[in-house]
Amino acid sequence: MKILVPVKRVVDYNVKVRPLSDSSNVDLNNVKMAVNPFCEIALEEAVRLKEAGQATEVVAVSVGKTESQEQLRTALALGADRATLVETDSLLEPLAIAKVLHKLVDDEKPDLIILGKQAIDGDNNQTGQMLAAMLDYPQATNASEVKIDNSSVQVTREIDGGLQTLKLNLPAIVTTDLRLNEPRYASLPNIMKAKKKELNILPISDMGLDASPRTELLSVELPPSRDAGIIVETVTDLVDKLKNEAKVIQ
Ligand code: AMP
Repeated sequence: MKILVPVKRVVDYNVKVRPLSDSSNVDLNNVKMAVNPFCEIALEEAVRLKEAGQATEVVAVSVGKTESQEQLRTALALGADRATLVETDSLLEPLAIAKVLHKLVDDEKPDLIILGKQAIDGDNNQTGQMLAAMLDYPQATNASEVKIDNSSVQVTREIDGGLQTLKLNLPAIVTTDLRLNEPRYASLPNIMKAKKKELNILPISDMGLDASPRTELLSVELPPSRDAGIIVETVTDLVDKLKNEAKVIQ
């Protein structure tokens, strides 16, 4: 069984991002970049399935700038067997990413595609769903448990007030939630080994698809700053302020 794991290069989750001075986008100059955390979880799950003898190959793919090779090397160090970068200088929307992934799926014919439920930069939560629609594959989003059973996959999802378990026939699409697993760290020997693993680079122009944007980013701004709070002396003062100033109680 072959598993394809799309991995996105995003701003590291520890970085506090700032808008550019003209508010046209997020300032990515000299910002630490990393593998999107939900993609790390997707990769960890794929590697665990391979280690359990249920998968034979794990292929990591990314769509982005040439620097995305760094994140693919990390994916290789974490256990992917080989990787493909579809290179583009543009920041593509989920629809365009899904179109690229569709082409890669046509070529690679994986049995299972595990994506993150969302990329933490745009918080779109769209790519897996769009890809499933394009491929007409069954999908289970926000997986908290994944079990392979011959020609199907069982996926447990944490939904409001309980757990839902779905059975999907393969090939299928799964997107990962935070509690699916705890990703490993790459060991130094594996980082060294990853340098020798296969990493193909395909220019997006070779794919012959329309990756033009459908939306226009108008502005990126910080949330409005909040006024400093005050400390009240007594409960009576508090109730008075809630009633007469904040007007949140009557
Ligand atoms: P999004 O729909 O943008 O929130 O992303 C959801 C998931 O789609 C990510 O966790 C990745 O698995 C995949 N994905 C999104 N953008 C890319 C990209 N540029 N390259 C590879 N995978 C991506």
